[in-house]
Amino acid sequence: MVFSSVWRSWLSRAGRFSILHEAYLGFLQPRLLHAPVQGLLVNGLASAINAVWCWILIRQGRRHRSPALVADGRHLLTDVITSGGVLVGVGLVAVTGWAVLDPALAALVALNILWSGWGLMKESVGGLMDEAAPPETLKRIRALISAHAVGAIEAHDLRTRHAGRRTFIDFHLVVPGAMSVSEAHDICDGIEQMLKAEIDDALITIHVEPENKAKHSGIVVL
Ligand SMILES: [Zn+2]
Repeated sequence: MVFSSVWRSWLSRAGRFSILHEAYLGFLQPRLLHAPVQGLLVNGLASAINAVWCWILIRQGRRHRSPALVADGRHLLTDVITSGGVLVGVGLVAVTGWAVLDPALAALVALNILWSGWGLMKESVGGLMDEAAPPETLKRIRALISAHAVGAIEAHDLRTRHAGRRTFIDFHLVVPGAMSVSEAHDICDGIEQMLKAEIDDALITIHVEPENKAKHSGIVVL
């Protein structure tokens, strides 16, 4: 879903290569615009509303760790910057009478769109290729396992990854070989509950092992 929206926005961006072409034509043959003040005001107002909407999208996207929302916000932001560039360009041409300013700004706006498209692409792919939880979260997870695995011997091979808003956590839990399945299961349930209470959207997988699998290098159970 993220990918399709990224490609869609890239296709629409590709269409904006035409801005560069227009800018080039403008350099060759500068022409003065008759700037209709009303049009500029309406455009400015629409851009201001869009800017607020961008801010909301990007903020909510970061809060919910959704690359798709952030991508939508960034996409809209390039529209706001484009409109801003047009407003400044037309305004400056009107004030200075220097017609070449308009294509110059148009070229800058086009380059900005391509640049932000590249950043957006990189970020979305990063969000799709899962990343490990940040160090603070990892530290917290280790502490929680250590504190709530009473009865177990150690935990090792802890792995975490973020996918969208979810945090996948998996590790091995070493328990005494003679412990009953239901006792080991209770320990797992206890750890899972604590982790889920503290880490939003945690999906936990615990692999239970007998003591001869201990590595003596993992998380020591307190
Ligand atoms: Zn193991």
